[in-house]
Amino acid sequence: MGATKGGKDWTPEYVVSIDHGRCIGCGRCFKVCGRSVLELVEKPFDGDDEFGDDMGNKVMSVKDADDCIGCGACARTCTKKCYTHAPA
Ligand code: SF4
Ligand code: SF4
Repeated sequence: MGATKGGKDWTPEYVVSIDHGRCIGCGRCFKVCGRSVLELVEKPFDGDDEFGDDMGNKVMSVKDADDCIGCGACARTCTKKCYTHAPA
């Protein structure tokens, strides 16, 4: 448990995983993460994704989960609902 500047309770929700079957590699989450936690990588499977599309060959991955501060910005910006977060 943490606290906001104003002293209100704040529970960080840390990144756990990204669903590569849903990710289209758009990079929106990467742009909002200020902690260099994320990395665009080659799609680790061939062919279509969960939506029946082959939207390119990149997906987002978690490069360094230990640097995550649990702000949740990545999940909020992801229109494909790829993210799983959890408290420590
Ligand atoms: S929760 Fe915040 S710090 Fe963690 S990966 Fe997402 S945007 Fe980056
Ligand atoms: S915002 Fe979602 S769909 Fe876009 S790269 Fe990030 S995880 Fe993938």
